[in-house]
Amino acid sequence: MKTYIIGNWKMNFTVGESSLYLHKLLSKVRAYRDLETVVAPSLVALQTLSLQTDRRKIKLACQNFFYKDFGSYTGEVSISQLRSLVDYAIVGHSERRYIFGETDKDIKKKVAAALRGGVTPILCIGETDSERSFGETVDVIRDQLLGGLSDVPKEDISKVLIAYEPVWAISGHGQPARLASPLDVADVLKLVRNILREAFGSKISEETPLLFGGSVRSLNAESYLSLRDCNGLLIGGASLIAPEFTDIIEIAKRVKNDRVI
Ligand code: PEP
Repeated sequence: MKTYIIGNWKMNFTVGESSLYLHKLLSKVRAYRDLETVVAPSLVALQTLSLQTDRRKIKLACQNFFYKDFGSYTGEVSISQLRSLVDYAIVGHSERRYIFGETDKDIKKKVAAALRGGVTPILCIGETDSERSFGETVDVIRDQLLGGLSDVPKEDISKVLIAYEPVWAISGHGQPARLASPLDVADVLKLVRNILREAFGSKISEETPLLFGGSVRSLNAESYLSLRDCNGLLIGGASLIAPEFTDIIEIAKRVKNDRVI
């Protein structure tokens, strides 16, 4: 199983700044056989960065798209338009769910559309602070996971990356973020594997990559990457700081014992 280090730049950097930043990252990052480094810049920077990047070192993701292929959808961009630029697509990020009102119905259509277009979806799931305090974590995770995957044919399930991102642990979600303990993360990742096993069988469950995201920094990356069920990280704030992001890549390489290509 590969390890995935994915940086979500959110609505940061102009096109010029994105290009300079990618240039810096490319000069520091090496190509590893089983470690995928991915960044998700702003939509406006994707064209430039796709011409600039060395995909063996850093692949690109989009942060959002619409699930229809073409048509009268003012302001939207489809996977057919993005597929030559990106290898991955973030779907169902909590900022899309809670700021822009995306529903599980939208999200399942996006996951299926990405797969149809040959782009790997990164399906984000995670409970809010109040859902956790009301003891609803298990139900929320089950609903978001099975809901998001409900339009995916069984043979494609393990092509989807699942990112567990508890909303309360994401920096900039409105309130001060709390760090998720590795034990909490281990419990939920195991829960995700169990739900996948019950729904689709052990092979698919074991082959589906599970990521964690929520205030990951170089200081705590190892504690999450060492978890049995953690196959990578989705990183917001720290992905905007070159030494932090490249340190996390090296930590992942060391923890997962990967080899340089
Ligand atoms: C995110 O928004 O997906 C995220 C994990 O952000 P941060 O790392 O800044 O908490």
